[in-house]
Amino acid sequence: MSVARLPIDIDFSARSQDRAFFCHDGTQIYLIHLIVTVYQENQENLRPIQGRNMTQTIRLPGLADVHTHLRVPGGEHKEDFQTGTAAALAGGVTTVLAMPNTTPPLATETAIAAAYQQAQADTRCQLGLFAGASPAHVDELPRLAPYAVALKIYLNDTFGTLRVEDVPTLRACFQTWPLDKPIAMHAEKQSVAVGIGLAATYNRHVHFCHISRREEIELIADAKMRGLPVTCEVTPHHLFMDVNDAARLGSLADMRPLLGTPDDVAALWEHLNDTVDCVATDHAPHTLAEKRSATPPPGVVGLETSLGLMLTAVSHNRLTLDRLIELMATAPRRLYHLPEQPDTWVDVVLEPTIVRNEALFTKCGWTPFDGVEVAGRVERVTLYGQVVFENGRLLAQPGSGEVIPEM
Ligand SMILES: [Zn+2]
Repeated sequence: MSVARLPIDIDFSARSQDRAFFCHDGTQIYLIHLIVTVYQENQENLRPIQGRNMTQTIRLPGLADVHTHLRVPGGEHKEDFQTGTAAALAGGVTTVLAMPNTTPPLATETAIAAAYQQAQADTRCQLGLFAGASPAHVDELPRLAPYAVALKIYLNDTFGTLRVEDVPTLRACFQTWPLDKPIAMHAEKQSVAVGIGLAATYNRHVHFCHISRREEIELIADAKMRGLPVTCEVTPHHLFMDVNDAARLGSLADMRPLLGTPDDVAALWEHLNDTVDCVATDHAPHTLAEKRSATPPPGVVGLETSLGLMLTAVSHNRLTLDRLIELMATAPRRLYHLPEQPDTWVDVVLEPTIVRNEALFTKCGWTPFDGVEVAGRVERVTLYGQVVFENGRLLAQPGSGEVIPEM
C-alpha cells in the first residue's frame, strides 16, 4: 500500500507556518495537521504567541493483536475478558486472539465452550480463542474447532501445562485440525526447524509466535525463500528490550521466550521489513505480587504499549507508517482469516507520551515500560461506527463486542 501525499499549504498570514496534508491509501483519507509556530510581530522582534509543539493526528485501521493471554478461565485475578478487551481498546486494538494456556487449558470441548460463552458476555471488542493441542485430548480437536479461530501448539516451555513433545500428537494435529484454520506454534531455537518440517511435510500454513532469536528469524527467512508456507510474529518487548533490561528489571522482564542479546534484537529489526509478518504483543498479565514472589511466573503485558512503541520506531525511520499498518492490522487479519470490521478506526495523536502504570486498563496494573516515552497516544477508537474509547475514557460496555467465529 503506498500513500500518496497531496500537500495543501494553508497560509493564514505571511507569518504563520501552518500546513495540512491529506494522505490517501485507497480506502481511507488521513488528515495530518501541522502547527509549527505562529509569530506575532512587535516593534523589536518576532516572538511566538502560539508555541505548541508539532501536533499530528493520524487515523489508522483497528489493530489486530493475534497473541494475548486474557487468563479466562482460572486466572481472573490477573485479567479477564472485560479488562483485557478494555486494555485492547485503550491500545487501539479492536481484535484480540486469546491463547489457550488457561486453567484448565482450552484443550477440551467443555473448557473452550465455557470460555466462548464467557467471552460473549464480557468482550468489548472482536475476540477469538485459540484451541490448545494436548496429548491427553488430541482426539477432541475436531470438536474444539467450531469455537476457535486457530490451534496453538506449544513445543517449548511456557506458563501453564500445555506442551506437545511427541510425534503422534503432532501428526494428529496436522491431520485432523481443519485446513481452513491456521496452526500457530510456540517454538524456540531448534523447535522452529521442527515446525518448518511439519509445514513442509503437510504442506500447510504454520505461524510462529514471538520469534526472538537471530538463528530463528534467519531460519524462517530461509524457509520463506524456499517457498514454504510459514509466517511469524515478533513482540514489541523483544524489539525494544534485551538481556540488559532483563538484568535491570529482574522478574518484571521475565517472559518466554526470554529477552535476547543485542545481536538478537538487531536481527529482528533487520528482518522487520521483510521476513516478519506481523507484530503481536504476547500480552501476558501477572500481578506484581506474583512477579515479586519467590517463584515469579513468566510474562508481561503489552496491549496498551505496542502501538506507541511501534510509532516511536516509525519516528526513528525504522519502518514506515504503511509498514506499521501492515504489521499490526492488515497482515494479522489476513493470516488468521479475521472478518473485516466496517466503520472501525483509531485516531492517534503523534506527540511524546509517557507510559504510566496508573493509566493502564489491564487488571494487573503494571508494565515493564512504565516511565518510557513513546511517540503517540490513542485519542479515540471507533468500532462499528460507535466511539468506544476517547481520551482515556472507556465507553464500550462488557458484551458489546463479538466473539469469532460466529456460532
Ligand atoms: Zn504467549
